[in-house]
Amino acid sequence: MSINKVAVIGAGTMGCGIAGQVANAGIEVWLLDLPSDDNPNALAQRGLERLRDPNQPGLVSKEAESFIHLGNTRDDFEQLAACDWVAEAVVERLDIKKALYQRLDAVCKDSAIITSNTSTIPIRLLVEDMPPAFRRRFAITHFFNPVRFMRLLELVRGEDTDPAIIGLLADFCEQQLGKGVVPCLDTPGFLGNRVGVFAIQCALHAAFELGLNPLEADAIFGRPIGIPKTGVFGLYDLIGIDLMSDVVQSLVNILPPDDAFHAEAAKIELMSNMIANGQTGNKQGQGFYRDGDSGREVLNLETASYVDAPRLNLPLAERAEQEGVRTLLEDDARYGQFAWRILSRTLTYAASLIPEVGDDPVAIDDAMKLGYNWIKGPFELIDEIGVDDFIARLEADGLAIPPFLAEAAGSSFYRVDDGVLQARRHGGRWQAIERPQGVIRFSEKRQTLKPCNRCAVASWYDLDGIALVEFHSKANALDADSMAILADALDHVESDGMRGLIVHNDAQHFSCGVNLQTVRDFFRREDMNGLDRFLADFQQTVYRMETAPFPVVAAPVGMSIGGGFEVVLHARQVICHANSVTGLVESLVGVVPGGGGCKETLYRWIELLQCGHDISEACWKAFMNLGYGKTATSPIIARKQAMLRANDRFVINRDRILGEAIKAIDDSAGQVAFARPDLALPGRPLFEEMVKWLEESRDKGLFMPHDVRVGTEMARIVTGGDVDPGTICSEQGFYDAERRSFLSLVETDATRERINSMLDAGSPVRN
Ligand code: NAD
Repeated sequence: MSINKVAVIGAGTMGCGIAGQVANAGIEVWLLDLPSDDNPNALAQRGLERLRDPNQPGLVSKEAESFIHLGNTRDDFEQLAACDWVAEAVVERLDIKKALYQRLDAVCKDSAIITSNTSTIPIRLLVEDMPPAFRRRFAITHFFNPVRFMRLLELVRGEDTDPAIIGLLADFCEQQLGKGVVPCLDTPGFLGNRVGVFAIQCALHAAFELGLNPLEADAIFGRPIGIPKTGVFGLYDLIGIDLMSDVVQSLVNILPPDDAFHAEAAKIELMSNMIANGQTGNKQGQGFYRDGDSGREVLNLETASYVDAPRLNLPLAERAEQEGVRTLLEDDARYGQFAWRILSRTLTYAASLIPEVGDDPVAIDDAMKLGYNWIKGPFELIDEIGVDDFIARLEADGLAIPPFLAEAAGSSFYRVDDGVLQARRHGGRWQAIERPQGVIRFSEKRQTLKPCNRCAVASWYDLDGIALVEFHSKANALDADSMAILADALDHVESDGMRGLIVHNDAQHFSCGVNLQTVRDFFRREDMNGLDRFLADFQQTVYRMETAPFPVVAAPVGMSIGGGFEVVLHARQVICHANSVTGLVESLVGVVPGGGGCKETLYRWIELLQCGHDISEACWKAFMNLGYGKTATSPIIARKQAMLRANDRFVINRDRILGEAIKAIDDSAGQVAFARPDLALPGRPLFEEMVKWLEESRDKGLFMPHDVRVGTEMARIVTGGDVDPGTICSEQGFYDAERRSFLSLVETDATRERINSMLDAGSPVRN
């Protein structure tokens, strides 16, 4: 049996997200909600509108919409007869869900799989009135919000669920919907929310008790621990303070009375007042943070009033982000105490759940990594701290040691044995970590390899005869050292006869671009020659990727923008993720792409538009991409914007990117060597036309003065500038033009102001 037609019932937050992801996979899906009076499909229609939200698009392209059929549960219920999988995502009410299952049982075919998205209701209760044949094909598929972007899917099996149904759902959700499937037992809150909400509550209470303000708390319980920078208060604002309070209450209702969660679930008066006042977070424009008239503001937890939120500079947090979590715990002042209080409780709580929730720490670690975007799961964090050090400190504090943690004394939860990564199971048995065929997470693979060359910001590895280059600086920003590692790997592939080169990492984002601090260091020293050499080296390194006599694949995940995208642009083939974000955003900080980005944008538009002799239209398109700093939120959109080429591919499951990239190296048929021909440039007339357009736009108030200056440089590069039409330009000529424009802009005060404000305040000034 296979799943070719799907229905989702309930078009709220989750239902529309699930339907959207099914459509992203190119599979027909009915989205049904209750009928409304005037327009019977109004609720499903509203769900579709949510998927169109430009700030968080639920669909990879406009075309994906055509796979979604809107309907209602009165007029379109018969459509379910043809569906292979019906996902129920209606309100969290047992009576409503049960009544729906009775109707589904009457209409759906015998082989149809039925699942619920419930967060809190046990399967046992959901299907208690249903016949055995229904129970056999019923499971919980617990997706996370937003469905397109959250990787975790908890797949919960009931007592009567047929293992073949679980296998089918696991394969479908992993391969077609791109999810990291974590099998769970039918225990309250499953894994992700059980540990995730516990950690958030711990952090919340610890911050109030230790008197940390939200800025400080989020700076510590955030990147230094390897969790998203929203931390605790930012996350409360993001989810909604009212919604989070409901989630906490629902866990209080379903967890047994002796569960440690109850000690972290007490209501905080200030937050009850905030909910009553409508300060519920981002959706209301105010929560613990808000945008004030003169910038970001934060709530003073003692006075309940908003004050300016300066950008915090906490050296301890900076160091911990680089060195790891032990650095935080070695601090015996308030921040260290805060971190210890959260980690001691959360990590022991996670350990205390084994074997109740299963015997496998990997499932809990995966749930936190895929569902809460932690870089390391609880057991990986304990290993980083050191099991024995962790136990010793718990004992010193008089805290209980859960048996599964005690079992690991003198050892660890993970180890590499004979080149294989293994995890400790309950009872002390070691077992290799098994992933579905084709899934390779480099973060795991790396643990079994030794780098061939490494510096603080990048490394390269020999992956069975393929060189894999990994950037690993903060936000994977690029500098001369990152490019030196890339160049070294290129040298070795050639001299050692390796099969090819892949640039990839398993971080949240591939690369946010060239490290602006590097650029600032040059202009602060007024070392323009040094800056020119840095850019020329960058260009030469990416040019070597482009012209290498062996296959070169870029396999980016998350964002690859600015210089990071220039690296991607020079690979012979790109294998990216369905959610990869790409673009050249240099104009924001007052420079032009100086690593071949302007050149590639122009050549790619010429390719896409199939321009003949007259490339004017391609010049305009390239000018617009660059000037507006356009980004594409999916590879399909990127292709339409000439950012990716026809031979570039994407996969829906990011855990499969590396496997596909390796295949692409071995099957070089998809590899297209670059042969960038010399171009006859449109020159002066088009250049002047573009400059005129920039000035008119500025006069209409659409652009700031410095936008015109930056745009003029972009126009100069793509048209040739003040030269006669037909002037010939080589690929190297474009590189040179990029560097000249880059340097001339960095000479200006306005560009320096933009770069300074980006580095010091986190956003560029508009000037
Ligand atoms: P929601 O309130 O946003 O949407 C529920 C939808 O169900 C509404 O559009 C409502 O009109 C519709 N509905 C109600 N009764 C119906 C019926 N009889 N037939 C058809 N449609 C009906 O809720 P949600 O947040 O999308 O949650 C849906 C399910 O997913 C719940 O079980 C919830 O526990 C679970 N869940 C939610 C989240 C989350 O972050 N919101 C995450 C994971 C799981």
